[in-house]
Formats: sequence, structure tokens, C-alpha cells
Amino acid sequence: MAFDRILFGTAGVPNSTEKKNSPVDGVKRIHELSLDCMQLEFAHGVRMKEEVSSALRKVSYELKVPLTSHGPYYINLNAREQDKIDSSVERIIQTAKISDLCGAESMTFHAAFYMKDSPYDVFDLVEKSLNVIEERLSRLDIEIELRPELTGKTSQFGSLEELISLAKMVNSCKPCIDFSHLYARTGEINSYAEFMNILDLLEKELGFDAVNNMHIHISGISSNSKGDLKHLNLLQSDFKWQELLKALKDRKCKGYMICNSPNLEKDAQMMKEYYMAL
Ligand SMILES: [Zn+2]
Repeated sequence: MAFDRILFGTAGVPNSTEKKNSPVDGVKRIHELSLDCMQLEFAHGVRMKEEVSSALRKVSYELKVPLTSHGPYYINLNAREQDKIDSSVERIIQTAKISDLCGAESMTFHAAFYMKDSPYDVFDLVEKSLNVIEERLSRLDIEIELRPELTGKTSQFGSLEELISLAKMVNSCKPCIDFSHLYARTGEINSYAEFMNILDLLEKELGFDAVNNMHIHISGISSNSKGDLKHLNLLQSDFKWQELLKALKDRKCKGYMICNSPNLEKDAQMMKEYYMAL
């Protein structure tokens, strides 16, 4: 879709939604909170009744709350057993199908674990699977952005460099930039100048679309040297979210910013207020 600014939303149904298991009510709550978008979380499985997805599509269109989605956690395109790779491919396709029914145009997922393999070999495998997925989706006439996520743990495939290379190799593939994970993964990139460098790099490598149509994740975060992560609320963490928002605004970036702090909508609202006042 064409954006006119950064849109702010939550990873899943906002906490303050009365019926927390109803994504339709979640979209209504997003609208009440004056937030902009919502991410459907299929973290623990891709199941949704058809009437729910069509209701979601309708309410999202009527309230102008666009949707993104997040695939299941148990995806590993570098699994030891071929049947586990196959079922990971199926899960991504299933997520794409349901997301498409709901009207979502961008979906993210954690692509793979290194399993101590060489990152180059893992890259080749992930690329191969994504090409298969892309072809199958195009045969199903499903047009959706496949966005492998910038992951926070060093055991997980998904560094910034890997995602940029993937996006060059696979047509429908674009990165989902999780700036909090990037900070946790690298131990740096937590200042205005460094955020600007990342945005410059994205545009230089992937073109204007990479900053004009973004899918971003944000939360407070803490990590140790093993890359073990804890998602925190922004004010409990040293992540420099104001500097990131300034960089995004100065650079006129556009797209989705999905907040996955534990307090979800509170941080999303805090970020939106700050960004709109810049
Ligand atoms: Zn994720």
C-alpha cells in the first residue's frame, strides 16, 4: 500500500481489548486508541476460521486499520530433517494464504536457525525455499510481501546483511527491520547517526522502496553476550527509540511500525505521539 508516514500499531490484539482472543475487536480497539495498524500474530499456529478472516478484512478496510502478520515461531528452513523443512515451507504458505484473506499485504517470520552450519550454506537453503514459496504463492495468485525478520539471537539466521542479500535474490522478499533486535544482535546501532546509516544502507542496497515501504518492529530490549533477549517496555530499556523516530522522520521513511513491548499499545501510543509532534 502507499503510505504517507510511519503507521503505528501493536503485535497482536491490544492488551486493553475486552475480548483479547478476538482480532476483530483488536482492530476496533486500535481505532479507538487512535493507532494506525495491527499485526496478526500466528506465533503458535496458523488457524483462523474463514468467517473471522473475512470479518477482519471488512473491519480493517472500514476503519482504515491495515494489517500485517507474523508467522509461527516453529519455522526452520534449515532444519535437520527434510520433512521439517517441508512443514516450515507449508507454514509460511499457510500464513500467507490467511494473511491474504484478511487483506494483509506484508508478513514477517523467523526464517531459520543456523544449527552450527555455515551461514553461507544456510543462506542458500533459505533462498531456495523462499523461491519455492514465491512460485507457489504466485500460482495461487497471492501477492504478499515475504519479510524475513531481522532476528535478535546470534543463533538465528537473519542479520541485516543476510536480509539485504535475500531481498536482492528473491522478488517478493523484503526485510522486516527489527531495530531492537539489531541493537541486541550487534551491541551497537542505538543512536541517531547509526540509525541514519542503516537507512542509508537500505536505500543504497535495495532502492527507494526500502525506506518508502518499511515493516519495522520495535520494543524495549535487554540482551547478554549470548544474545539472550528479553522484551521490555521502552522506558525500562536503554533503547533510544526517540532517536530512531527522529531518524525515520527526517529521512521521510514510510511504512508499518509494530510495537511488541509487553505493554503493546502504551508504547505504540507513546511513540506515535512523539513522532507526530516532531
Ligand atoms: Zn518476530
